[in-house]
Amino acid sequence: MGDHAGLAEAARFGSVVPALVVDRRPAPGLARNPRRAAFYCGAVASLARDLEARGAHLICRRGPARQTILRLAREVGAGAVTWSAGYDAASQRESRELQSALEEAGLRATIVHDAPAVPPEETAAARASDGGRGYRALGPYLTVWAAQPREPYAAAVRFLNAPIDSEPLPQPQDFGAAPSDQAPSEARASAAFDAYLGAAILQYRTARNVPGDGPTSRLSAALSFGLISARTILRRVDERSRDPFLLAEEKFALRSFAHALARRDFFFQLAWFFEETPDGVLQPRMRTFGFARSHPALEAWREGRTGYPLVDAGMRELRATGWMHPRVRSVAASFLCFDLGVDWRVGRDAWDAELVEDDPALSTGNWQWAAGVGADLAQFPRIYNPRKQARAFDPAGTYVRRWVPELAGAPSAELFDAAAQARRRQLALPLFGGSEYPAPVVDHEPVAREFLARYATFAGRAPKR
Ligand SMILES: Cc1cc2nc3c(=O)[nH]c(=O)nc-3n(C[C@H](O)[C@H](O)[C@H](O)COP(=O)(O)OP(=O)(O)OC[C@H]3O[C@@H](n4cnc5c(N)ncnc54)[C@H](O)[C@@H]3O)c2cc1C
Repeated sequence: MGDHAGLAEAARFGSVVPALVVDRRPAPGLARNPRRAAFYCGAVASLARDLEARGAHLICRRGPARQTILRLAREVGAGAVTWSAGYDAASQRESRELQSALEEAGLRATIVHDAPAVPPEETAAARASDGGRGYRALGPYLTVWAAQPREPYAAAVRFLNAPIDSEPLPQPQDFGAAPSDQAPSEARASAAFDAYLGAAILQYRTARNVPGDGPTSRLSAALSFGLISARTILRRVDERSRDPFLLAEEKFALRSFAHALARRDFFFQLAWFFEETPDGVLQPRMRTFGFARSHPALEAWREGRTGYPLVDAGMRELRATGWMHPRVRSVAASFLCFDLGVDWRVGRDAWDAELVEDDPALSTGNWQWAAGVGADLAQFPRIYNPRKQARAFDPAGTYVRRWVPELAGAPSAELFDAAAQARRRQLALPLFGGSEYPAPVVDHEPVAREFLARYATFAGRAPKR
């Protein structure tokens, strides 16, 4: 609330009435994910408390957005309505329809960019010669992004001081959920980030690759539900970077962290300018590539029983916590798309039912990237070898042992070696009646080679041997 594009814009027109409009049909992203719904309800409750502390009330109304907002605007005599953009195709369409309807009714209706640190139009302006379209490639985008201002909003907001009817705020039980055990709030998100900025961020370059060693920020859900803004985070990272006692490696870590947020902005602008449907594919030449909709091992992938310890640890972390380490996300996504040959949309939707963060534009952009059909311009898809990845990034097996208890007592060599795993299974089967860690559902090397050959034929390219 302290740094909010919508509030800052609304404040330009006079006293503000903060409102939450809840459609009677719950948003699909909340309806299918009780943990996310609980987080959302916690975030709404905390916003209401923060507003109360400033002498304002969050007005909640239920019903279709257009009619509900029009009714409320008339009731309070508003001349302008402001809200934050969503970036996926469906949110953009709904927003545009709402804007037209409100304007037709004589209201000034403004959609602002609150989620990204740099609004899509500002980076696109650097490509004015190209009609102001956005960037499909990350590299040139990052250069332009780095040169943009991204100051937090600091408007003095006056709230309307009048009694207005409000319905009860949404509750976790409306979605069949229990209250969030994370008690989300702006103060908590800010304190968590301050703690991270104080120390662990300086090891970010290791943490983002090594899932068992040191934390990444774990800010994705707080960012997603607006409990902290990307602008504020970047401002604090900039301030921290000015510490004269930092080592070069630590400054580099801070830069990498800022790049993570730039990447987030990149995917927002990608969806803003290029997403026509939620299931559309960015690369035209890959639109008809034949991914499968299913695979006999799909359920094993979802449940973390593929027989590949790093993939399984990631999928079990996701199911247990609603979050998965970034490096492991890439490996688990690669396994689905390339080892099993399953469509990235199946993976995206499976994760959508588990992740707390609710960012369709970010999940679609990242899944397309991982599947080699999106903004990654590498000539061939990045097929990760899950055993080599585990050896490189979880060499002591810390992460795998945390999430795959069947392997807790296994020597490290066994985590990376197929033959050693098979020997252990043979010895263990009679003892554990078949409940040991499962055998690999596919043999990585041949299926990956087969996929690459199929991809190369489709794209009209020969893979390098
Ligand atoms: C297949 C796949 C699917 C993904 N789906 C999502 C998703 O649905 N929502 C989501 O927020 N992130 C997604 N990511 C990106 C990234 O993995 C998560 O943002 C990150 O794991 C969140 O953990 P963190 O907050 O500790 O991140 P940190 O590494 O601490 O990064 C800080 C913040 O930067 C942003 N960020 C970092 N990397 C990315 C990225 N590649 N894309 C977008 N934002 C990024 C996030 O907001 C993150 O909270 C996905 C990545 C992959 C490979």
